[in-house]
Amino acid sequence: METKDLTPTFIAKKPCGCVVFAMVDEPNPSPQYRNELAKEIANCIKQGLTIEKVTVDYIRNLKTMGCTCDKVKKIQPKDSSQSVMELKV
Ligand SMILES: [Zn+2]
Repeated sequence: METKDLTPTFIAKKPCGCVVFAMVDEPNPSPQYRNELAKEIANCIKQGLTIEKVTVDYIRNLKTMGCTCDKVKKIQPKDSSQSVMELKV
């Protein structure tokens, strides 16, 4: 049995569509949490991320969190011995 948690949650998406940030919008946040949330969201916007409001349930159903697109670029082989990774059709 699955319980749906519909607590509002802020997520930040990169232009590629990957969710790289999630923070629950607590119904009764402490001033400290409220500050933290505002700071994080401002930070995400500064990085050019898109803020969306979803639910905790949505986050739970995400298969992956974080962007692998950047990593793929970084992993690109520096020496030709690793070119095996390239797909040969
Ligand atoms: Zn991505």
